[in-house]
Amino acid sequence: MVSLSFLNPLSTEGEEIVREKGSLESLFDKNTDLLRIVSKTNISNDEYTPDTLADLAVKRLEWYLRKKNDKQFDHNDYAFLFEPEIFQFDVIAFYIAAQAIGVKFNPNSRESRVFIEAQGRLVEERLEKLPPYERKEAVSNLLNLLIEQDNIKWTSLSELFGSKKINLSELILDNGEVVLNKSDFLLKFEDKIVNRPPEKMYDLLIGQRIKELIINRMIMQNTENYIKRVHEMSANIEPHPSLIQIAQMISEKLAERSTYFAASGGAGEIKATALQHEAFPPCIAKTMEGVGSGNRNDAIVLLLTSFLSYARLYPAIFRNDVSVKVSDIDSNLQIVTNEILPLIYEAADNCSPPLFEDDPQEKLNVIAKLGFGVHSDPDLKHEGESKWYTPMSCDKIKIHLSALCKPDATCKKIGNPLSYYNRRRWELRNSSQEGSSKGEAEKGTGKP
Ligand code: SF4
Repeated sequence: MVSLSFLNPLSTEGEEIVREKGSLESLFDKNTDLLRIVSKTNISNDEYTPDTLADLAVKRLEWYLRKKNDKQFDHNDYAFLFEPEIFQFDVIAFYIAAQAIGVKFNPNSRESRVFIEAQGRLVEERLEKLPPYERKEAVSNLLNLLIEQDNIKWTSLSELFGSKKINLSELILDNGEVVLNKSDFLLKFEDKIVNRPPEKMYDLLIGQRIKELIINRMIMQNTENYIKRVHEMSANIEPHPSLIQIAQMISEKLAERSTYFAASGGAGEIKATALQHEAFPPCIAKTMEGVGSGNRNDAIVLLLTSFLSYARLYPAIFRNDVSVKVSDIDSNLQIVTNEILPLIYEAADNCSPPLFEDDPQEKLNVIAKLGFGVHSDPDLKHEGESKWYTPMSCDKIKIHLSALCKPDATCKKIGNPLSYYNRRRWELRNSSQEGSSKGEAEKGTGKP
């Protein structure tokens, strides 16, 4: 049976491991026991081998970042993270990474968010790798430890709803209580289910899926709370130098993240650069000039916001097909605040009547479409509350915003305004290069 601390390092067992073996003095010493376990796996490149506990702490985040963003990612290079035998080292690595982040960074920082997300993903994948009977037993034991299972009031999970880690609509409730067990479900709903076997309905609506979702989100929430506690305590205690050093290593690893984006999918030519207005497609150029009341709201909030933000920050989104947030590229939101939003607000002002004067709520919706929830300004602490919308396709624009679509020759070759933008930038770049080499050649022949 897998150790529960391998899935939930914040368990009592996990705390004991750290107390007994988590000395901060030896975090950078070569650890032969750790290396023995790691060497059992099939790592393609020695660069990925963690030989110290500090290294393992950083590898946990590196695994998540590369898996999410790097098309060269090879699972074998991180297979050691899924070896149950590594659990004691893994627990210590979890605590030192959480403490390093807590002492050095804000609980809402990118470092905190990535660490919490990585922990959630690790739990998910570690559970997936267990044999079915062991997975079921582990889930049941974890649930017992994480929540009082009899009569779970939905309010007892309010922290998860509040932080949007789980949606109330994902759960089955009865008289304010969350139904998780099959026997409870059958007792409460068997009579009401017609034309379908009630057991099948239980598997469909609840089953292992909801139990694992709750476990996962609770572990993420507890990780977040732990980082907050460390951060609060660090105001009064001098942090250990090893933790500061590990925090620096984590920060550098996150900075490398943008190189994964650039390297993914050979999209070297489609990099984030200043906006080139002359490459905007006709529909966007028209929106920038202002739109009449019929199409105004969707043109600004849906079309322009998504187009300008991706064109400026991540024009290769469709080619690379990765999951990305605004702060992955614009870590302090300077580009969003100083370049992207002013253009959107200017276009909104050009509308007739001016959009935000007429409908102030739409200003909040612009922020929401950038992934920062319904707020008046983008703020890292709200990132992820909504989705960063990708630009709609030409087909959709032709249906919903037909007055804006005035296709030109380039439009025949693309299916999305962002693809138009990338193609047109490439054409403009090529024609300017051709122009300059022609000029060079003419100079060589003495032509005027
Ligand atoms: S075809 Fe597409 S890119 Fe061209 S104007 Fe119409 S919607 Fe815009």
